[in-house]
Amino acid sequence: MINQLISGLTPKAQFRSGKALLMASLMSLGGFSLGWQKLVEARESIQATSALSWSEASFPVENFQEYTSPFGYRSSGFHYGLDMAAPQGSYIRNWWTGTVVEVWEDGRCGTGIAIDSGQWTHIYCHVQGSVAKDASGRTYFIDRQGGIQLWEGQVVASGARIARVGMTGRTTGPHLHWGLKYSGRWVDPGRVLMAMYNEQNQRYSRR
Ligand SMILES: [Zn+2]
Repeated sequence: MINQLISGLTPKAQFRSGKALLMASLMSLGGFSLGWQKLVEARESIQATSALSWSEASFPVENFQEYTSPFGYRSSGFHYGLDMAAPQGSYIRNWWTGTVVEVWEDGRCGTGIAIDSGQWTHIYCHVQGSVAKDASGRTYFIDRQGGIQLWEGQVVASGARIARVGMTGRTTGPHLHWGLKYSGRWVDPGRVLMAMYNEQNQRYSRR
């Protein structure tokens, strides 16, 4: 099923849908205390670090509603990700082509997926479904209703549907907790979304 989903998405379609999602959702990101100047600086430092183009990146959730908690300090401790609310069952899209390095279940993240793309690691928490092992001991994530099965070691394309928004782990409502690491260090996903938006917007407006 996941292979069908992946092959059904042409790169161009992924890019378009990713951009449409970004356009629709970036407005509310400005509501956080990050100033524009700070975001521009962040984009430059991210691009300098990684020396990559964001054109391949996909916005990570369908039916996005709002950002419910930013990356950073909050009363309960540091929040190492960006919370993105979406209706229960909304599909989560893989941010960047990469390899599934770990799928797991714990009391906090709930059912979680970690994908490596070069020096980046992207993490998806609270998703619907569970983790199991097959007869040969290989670990996989399964969401039968959503038609998704992901194996550790599997390569997934940018924009592919990899899971659905749920409420596993510690959460009060359905949302994607999206975490990002670069070279093992946490990065604010909101800044990466802004960088993606700025670059994709420039590319389109030049036409
Ligand atoms: Zn969170």
